[in-house]
Parts: sequence; C-alpha cells; structure tokens
Amino acid sequence: MHEIDINEENNFRVTVVYDNEALVEGLEADWGFACLIEGRGIPRVLFDTGNRGTILLHNLELLGIDPASIDLIVISHAHMDHTGGLVPILNLARNATLYIPSSLNIEFPVKNVIRVKRPVQIRKGIYSTGKLDDIEQALVLSGTRGVYVIVGCSHPGVGKILNAASRFGHVKGIIGGFHGFNDFGKLNDLSIICPCHCSQYKKEIAGLFPERCIRCGAGLVIEL
Ligand SMILES: [Zn+2]
Ligand SMILES: [Zn+2]
Repeated sequence: MHEIDINEENNFRVTVVYDNEALVEGLEADWGFACLIEGRGIPRVLFDTGNRGTILLHNLELLGIDPASIDLIVISHAHMDHTGGLVPILNLARNATLYIPSSLNIEFPVKNVIRVKRPVQIRKGIYSTGKLDDIEQALVLSGTRGVYVIVGCSHPGVGKILNAASRFGHVKGIIGGFHGFNDFGKLNDLSIICPCHCSQYKKEIAGLFPERCIRCGAGLVIEL
C-alpha cells in the first residue's frame, strides 16, 4: 500500500492526470479524462486512462506517479477518451486489479479483471455505482467527510449518477465529465462541483456556484 502525506481531516486525494485543460506547466492537455485517487490505508486507484497512452504516461511521470505503484484501475465506460491509455498503463502496472463495466470486451495483459454490473464495494470506502444505463459506472469515495463521486462522461446523466451514489451516503461532491448536463438544481446540495473534460456547461455551472465550483484540468489536486 502506498502511504501518502494528506491533511489529517481528509480521507482522499484526487489528482487529475488527464483532461482537455492543463493547469500545471509541462502537463499535456488532450481530450479525455483520468485521475488518481490516493489516501491513507487505501490502494492507489487510477480512474480512467485518457485517450492516448503516451500523454497519460508523460503526465504521470511529470507528476511523480510511478505507474507500477498503481494498485487498482477503474474504467468508467468503453469510450476511447477513457480507455485509450489502458493497455499502455497495464503493461507497466502488471499487478493492478482492473474494474471495468461488463460491456468492455478487449484482451487485457493482467490477470485480475473484474467485470462490474451491480453496485459493488471495491475496497473499504471505495465503491462502484454499478453499470448504469448499460454503459457507465461511477466511482464512489466514502470517508469521514461524506461521499464524493468520480465520473467519466456521465452518459447516464449526472442526476441518475448522484442518485445511484446516494445509496452509499450523503453525496457532498462530484468530479469528472458532466457531458450535456444542464439540470443545475441537482447540484444545489453539493459542496464540491468539478466539471471536467466533456462538460458542455462549465461556464454556466461556475457562474451559478462560484464558491463551490472548481476549475478542472490536469494537475488539479483536491483533498476530500
Ligand atoms: Zn463517453
Ligand atoms: Zn469522455
């Protein structure tokens, strides 16, 4: 297990490693999404892998993240901008356990592949919503400060995903792609709103929730 230095009140640290914006000099921006989740006493989780392996590996290296130290890889859905870096990263993270939606049908160079259909506990405090609308799973992080959701593209809809995640506790925040989501009232209760790569209404969301909306981009670090 990879121990990290994290603020005492927090349970998780999320680092965006792939996005169509970059917030740290030297990181490459490209269409797609990936983020790393770490915490005390939890495995290192890579959620999605962006569009291109070369960019994913470049960004990880620049952020000082060794691919071989990744314990778990969770794939939200089978679109290229989330799976493109998967085989390249698996070639370096041979011991990683893979959680994929049951519809993703490619050969993987690792042994431990778990195909997710229903909501499932991945590790203590880390859950999958299960495959929603037969396309996409979201990752749920549940700690002492509440429940946070990490999403890929939100094809099933942000509202549906928030609803599915609420079975694990009161949802406090969401990070990831919101796609065409514009039912903004559904975000009223959240204290962290971080719309990433494919979110069409980033500006509107930032305007409505200036204090709680966080600008996404590669290099962003959020402690939860
Ligand atoms: Zn997608
Ligand atoms: Zn996407």
